Amino acid sequence: MEPRSAAAVGRDFPYTARTTCYVEIHKDGHVTHGTDRATYERVKAGESKLYAVWPGEWSSHLFVIDDLDEYAKAHGIKHDVQRTGLAEHVHQVRWTESGGEQNPRSPYIGISVSLDCGCKIQSLAVFAAQMREQKGWAVATSGGWGSSSGPEGATYSLRVRRKSLTA
Ligand SMILES: [Zn+2]
Repeated sequence: MEPRSAAAVGRDFPYTARTTCYVEIHKDGHVTHGTDRATYERVKAGESKLYAVWPGEWSSHLFVIDDLDEYAKAHGIKHDVQRTGLAEHVHQVRWTESGGEQNPRSPYIGISVSLDCGCKIQSLAVFAAQMREQKGWAVATSGGWGSSSGPEGATYSLRVRRKSLTA
């Protein structure tokens, strides 16, 4: 059976679904199941081929990952403004301590963040990585975070390691 084209499915292809199983077939025939940058680099260099099994309701389908760019964006190997809501620039961040009760013994502090640059936080992991680079913040990426929209745009409630919050 010929594998189908993931590129033909476009952005709806479930690149990061838990049920999507990747199969990387190396030149020597051995098979791995990684989805990391190394996989991307090998496939891009033509050293291996990447397939994905998309389990359907009635049967599973085999797809060839033929849109590597989309694959890389979905897995965060390449930055994707559309998926993350975040441009690749220095964000204009306004923040205040959250009004709610803070646990003084927690190494983390709750803050409210607004982005004046027009970005939206759709991926906390990507925003956390950008803030680590831009401000040295250690944003908690496990556990709850939220957003609320007001007249001045969206406000995000995040938790940041207290000691890293200097600017
Ligand atoms: Zn921004």
